[in-house]
Amino acid sequence: MDCLFCKIVNKEIPAQIVYEDDRVIAFEDISPQAPVHVLVIPRRHLATTLELKEEDESLTGHLIVVGNKIAADRGVAEKGFRMVMNCNREAGQTVFHVHLHVLGGRFMSWPPG
Ligand code: 5GP
Ligand code: ZN
Repeated sequence: MDCLFCKIVNKEIPAQIVYEDDRVIAFEDISPQAPVHVLVIPRRHLATTLELKEEDESLTGHLIVVGNKIAADRGVAEKGFRMVMNCNREAGQTVFHVHLHVLGGRFMSWPPG
């Protein structure tokens, strides 16, 4: 399987890792869309959020808890930040390994583009 984010998990390609534990890793997005733009991903390969099942609810929640920690570390938690998971092409998913975007440090519009 040729998955970019699995290669980051396996340290086969470099990334600026900001957090890691036994279930997830977090790293700087290569093309940041805000002053804070970190991706939190499960170590295990799951192509889209549709592959997250009931038995993965703890892992799914852990992605959010780690996203909260990153927002706090970067000083955007109280000001406001956005966590996004794009699922499939029409939503804009380009890398098919589940990832949570943690975006902050600027005002954001709604609805999203
Ligand atoms: P998606 O569009 O699938 O929701 O988000 C994929 C994200 O991965 C994009 O924000 C993109 O900039 C980021 N990305 C793509 N390739 C790389 C890479 O090689 N390294 C890192 N750190 N981020 C990447
Ligand atoms: Zn993968």
